[in-house]
Amino acid sequence: VNLVVRGRRVVHEDRVGPAAIHVDRGRIVRVAAFDDLPHRAEVFDAGDLVVLPGLVDTHVHVDEPGRADWEGFASATRAAAAGGITTIVDMPLNSIPATTTPAALGAKCRAAGGQCTVDVGFWGGVVPGNEGELGALRRDGVLGFKCFLAPSGVPEFEAVDEAALRRALPALARLGGAPLLAHAELPAALRTPHGDSRSYRDYAASRPPAAERDAVALLARLCAEFDGRVPIHIVHVAAAAALEPLAAARAAGLPFTAETCPHYLTFTTDEVPDGATEFKCAPPLRTDQDRDALWQALARGALDLVASDHSPSPPGLKLRERGDLFAAWGGIASLQLSLAATWTEADRRRRGLAAVARWMATAPARLAGLAGRKGEIAPGCDADLVLFDPDATFTVDPRRLEHRHPVTPYAGRTLRGVVRRTYLRGEVVYDGGAFPGTPSGRLLLGRDC
Ligand SMILES: [Zn+2]
Repeated sequence: VNLVVRGRRVVHEDRVGPAAIHVDRGRIVRVAAFDDLPHRAEVFDAGDLVVLPGLVDTHVHVDEPGRADWEGFASATRAAAAGGITTIVDMPLNSIPATTTPAALGAKCRAAGGQCTVDVGFWGGVVPGNEGELGALRRDGVLGFKCFLAPSGVPEFEAVDEAALRRALPALARLGGAPLLAHAELPAALRTPHGDSRSYRDYAASRPPAAERDAVALLARLCAEFDGRVPIHIVHVAAAAALEPLAAARAAGLPFTAETCPHYLTFTTDEVPDGATEFKCAPPLRTDQDRDALWQALARGALDLVASDHSPSPPGLKLRERGDLFAAWGGIASLQLSLAATWTEADRRRRGLAAVARWMATAPARLAGLAGRKGEIAPGCDADLVLFDPDATFTVDPRRLEHRHPVTPYAGRTLRGVVRRTYLRGEVVYDGGAFPGTPSGRLLLGRDC
């Protein structure tokens, strides 16, 4: 044992309490009593700070290579470290090429290599006609797959319809439980936006809750038809209506999981100022009732996890001067703020830090097949730790974000919870605004690529 991190408020086994975390060569070897210290080891006492497991964010658009002017591995992983996130899983779009072939995965790995401050895994893409590539993508190390039922917004990543899904699912069923993540909005229920292009309500009306509900129902039917051999995960649930078919699928025993995002847990349609395109996302922000339903679903385990869906673009594409919500790029940048935003609202609703760790570390690690290695303070796991002050508050200053672009709907908002220090495999990678050492993040692949 060469390092011990101990504290009075360690999040461990779904509780917060005193413990001493024994670390040897980057791994947790023991979670011992507070006073149980080995003879020769560096001991860091976290004092009153909470020690969280490093968070795992399974929904991040890094956009490199090809659109590195949107977001890149260096900036995204620094933002992650500053936000208490020690593992990100990169979405197969909006990079060019999209990660839909082994060659494209190779390009991702070359782009990421050597410049990541936290660990990075990759989702592969399912697009019409690439079912022949899925086995090789999995062998090369993707942690699972992502598809869109509605247009993705970029031409390189085509949406799948039911027929295309029926061609992909047999190939996925042979891959030993790799999950299929789905953007669940059904095009038949989407409408061309009309009305006032500066009104968020008019934008939201073009993507009604029924689009989410019907897409989840379709995916549940397909999951059952393929005997649950392909676990399905619904990304960014926004509407309460989508929770019904989700609950039915789970009650039927299907491997069917779902996430929501900090913005759906924080904002509602009605509070978006006219023309505020930094709030545009798909599905759109919804009502106060939807937001309450999402919180209740998290609390009872009907939603599994919270992921950022960090999806930035250059400020120009947000059309902020025109304030055109119909034409602006949709996507909310929040990677660095994901924990604070979620904790702010969780605390207000009397949810504890053990629950936040479950939603933002343990459950996403399980989704990505990283259970036992990431997402928990437990023997055998990497010593990815976050020292968090849950009572400190700060006002979001976009200039202090590490994201490539400072555009964020959280600008000027006061959030609760400050990340003081982040450890990756026992090494400090973020410390009070600084990033000591050289980037030591690894690529989490089934094999080296
Ligand atoms: Zn996304």
